[in-house]
Amino acid sequence: MEIQFHGAAREVTGSCFLVLCGEQRLLVDCGLIQGAPADEARNRRPFPFDPARLDAVVLTHAHLDHSGRLPLLVKAGFSGPVYTHRATRDLCRIMLTDAALLNEKDAGHENRRRLRRGKRLVEPLYSRPDADRAMRQFQALDYSVEREILPGVRLRLQDAGHILGSAIVELWLEENGARRKLVISGDLGHAGAPILRNPRAVRDADLVVLESTYGDREHRSWDETLAELGEVFREARQSRGNILIPAFAIGRSQELLYFLKHHAREWGIGHWTVFLDSPMAIEATEVYGRHWKLFDAEASRRRKRHGDPFTMPNLHFSRTAAQSRAINRVLRGAIVIAGSGMCDGGRIRHHFKHNLWRESCHVIFAGFQARGTLGRRIVDGAQTVKLWGDTIRVGARIHTVGGLSAHAGQSGLLEWYRNFAQRPPVVLVHGEPEPMRALAQRLEASRSRVLIPKPGERLDLLSPLPRNR
Ligand code: ZN
Repeated sequence: MEIQFHGAAREVTGSCFLVLCGEQRLLVDCGLIQGAPADEARNRRPFPFDPARLDAVVLTHAHLDHSGRLPLLVKAGFSGPVYTHRATRDLCRIMLTDAALLNEKDAGHENRRRLRRGKRLVEPLYSRPDADRAMRQFQALDYSVEREILPGVRLRLQDAGHILGSAIVELWLEENGARRKLVISGDLGHAGAPILRNPRAVRDADLVVLESTYGDREHRSWDETLAELGEVFREARQSRGNILIPAFAIGRSQELLYFLKHHAREWGIGHWTVFLDSPMAIEATEVYGRHWKLFDAEASRRRKRHGDPFTMPNLHFSRTAAQSRAINRVLRGAIVIAGSGMCDGGRIRHHFKHNLWRESCHVIFAGFQARGTLGRRIVDGAQTVKLWGDTIRVGARIHTVGGLSAHAGQSGLLEWYRNFAQRPPVVLVHGEPEPMRALAQRLEASRSRVLIPKPGERLDLLSPLPRNR
């Protein structure tokens, strides 16, 4: 009985853990490695296990760094079931289809260059039929229902409160009469976040695998974050321009719509026309709306009283390219929410071209901006940026609202862990080295044993946790 850490080991992306129990081989998550081109090239390497010999996959949530290599796994021979929450299945259909189309587009672009140079052509990482095939292997589950998924392996998903459908994985394993309970946190949500419930407490485990994205940081309070957002909208009204908000299609876009609707009076949102300019975000918003039973108490109450929490009379969904282009003619009074979240692609770049140089406009960065992205350069104070070879002056007011994280901060992670009555040993994953070390110190200070596995490291679940880390 063992667990092997084949991804998100001393890094944030590419979540992938292999659990062996008796004859059974179970993979938890099969995420895409994201980041610099050299990191992303690792996605093309063969899996360090035989996909055809896996009996099942359990998927924690729809984000690509957890789900994005599933079509590749299927392409490499995996034909078993993918167990996940039903909302994750619905979001994956959007995410994986989009990822496949993007792969095809990237490969097409690269191949046109290669043809001109007489070089060998590349294959897309995977394409649409691979994503469709992976989707057919999904088996949808609900939260809190225990189920035997393989001989000797029982599974229960609990609400992780990170994005819709996100799950904490509880696994009961039995091998030759020996029993162990393994709990894998997945990505844990930020308590108090809108729409979703807080991460569900789990009381018992023999071993906990814990994410550590923000293991060294706290988030600003929700009250402060909302006050900050309100202030930007009030200020922007006086400068009589547009507001651009780059946002991830899943999670952040829905949170923004929710806040705009429910603070509409206070923030003067009625004076604006709001555009959700992203087909993927529109589809994800529909999935959120369909799964209203997963909302927290406040969102449920508001839904009952004011209807769907993501619709407003002055909100427009722009699906087609023509609808998106029409927004370019609006010089004032538009709030435009568009992808991509870090401005490296998507429709937000067109809106930048038409608005970023104008002093009357405002840009709100409400999500994480990774190093090397266009969003990060603007946040860091670039005077000009390049878009399609054109130099654009940054004249608009730039606002960074940092509190809207989908991940628990340090105290959130510690609080969730402290629900385990026996303080079981902890394995830290899904973090950069600094946050991991900081979180390990806090855990060790309260006498918990901590392991930070290296990529590929194996851990015997029947022996005590080794002392190294
Ligand atoms: Zn995530």
